[in-house]
Amino acid sequence: MIKAKKSLGQNFLIDKYILEKIVNLIEINEKNILEIGPGTGNLTLCILKKKPKKIIVIEKDKKLALNLEQKFSDKITVINGDVLEIDETSLFKEKFIVFGNLPYNISTEILSKWIVNLKDNFWFDHLVLMFQKEVADRIISKFDTSTYGRLSILANWKLKIDKICDIKPESFFPKPKVDSSLLLFSPKNKIFKIKDPKNLEKVTRVFFSHRRKMLKKPFNQLFNGNQKILDKLNINLNLRPQNLDFETYYQLTSEYENLIS
Ligand code: SAM
Repeated sequence: MIKAKKSLGQNFLIDKYILEKIVNLIEINEKNILEIGPGTGNLTLCILKKKPKKIIVIEKDKKLALNLEQKFSDKITVINGDVLEIDETSLFKEKFIVFGNLPYNISTEILSKWIVNLKDNFWFDHLVLMFQKEVADRIISKFDTSTYGRLSILANWKLKIDKICDIKPESFFPKPKVDSSLLLFSPKNKIFKIKDPKNLEKVTRVFFSHRRKMLKKPFNQLFNGNQKILDKLNINLNLRPQNLDFETYYQLTSEYENLIS
C-alpha cells in the first residue's frame, strides 16, 4: 500500500471516466509522450493502451519511480528526477505530447519554465495538464478581470488554451481540499515577436508587483516616462495593470527590448 506524500502533492487520479477523457482528448497512437508525475501509474496505463510510440515519465518520488519500473518494465522509460531540473527539450528527437496531473504546489513554476524555454520552435504538440481550479482560472483569464495577470499573459503569448472540464476532489485519492481543472494547450499559429521570453516575465513582474496601483509607477520604472511609447500604444497611466490586454503587454515587452538593445 502506497502512502501519499503531501509534500510532493500526491493526489492520485482514480476516476476512470476522467482518465479516459484525458487520453481521448487528442491522438496518442504512434506519438511520443512525456508524463510528468505519473505517481502510481493510473494515467500511464491509460496512455499505454492507446499504443504510443514511446513514453518517458518523470517522477520525483524514488519509491514510486521504482514501482513504476516494476509495473511497466520496458514499456516505459522512468526518470527518477525533478521536472524543474530536467531539460525536457532534449528527451525526444521529435516533438511530443506532455501529460501531467501536476503537483499543485509547483504547477505554475513548471508551466512558466516551459513557456520561458520556448525559443523559435515548439518542442511539444500539445500539453494536457491538470491544475488546481483557481490556478487554471488565472491561466485562462482575460483582461479587466481580477484573476488576470502574469500567468495568463505568459501562457497566452504562444499558446491557445482550452479548458476541458472541472474535476471534483472525489476523483482523487487522497481527496484534495480544492477543485481541479483540465487544460489543453496547443501552439498558436500567429505569435507576437518577442526576442527573449525572460523580458516578458520581467515586464509583467514589474507591472503586476502592485496590481491595485496605477500604471504610472511601473511604467516609469521601465520606460522612464517615455511619452512616445505611451502615445504609440495608447496607454492611459491612470489605469491599473489588469486593464491592459495581452497584446499591449507583448508590445510593451518589444518596446522594452528596443530600449535595452
Ligand atoms: N499523475 C498521477 C495521477 O494522476 O494519479 C499522480 C499525480 S500527483 C498530483 C503528482 C505527482 O507528481 C506525484 O506522483 C509526485 O510524487 C510527483 N512529483 C511531485 N513533485 C515532482 C517534481 N518536482 N518532479 C517530478 N514529479 C514530481
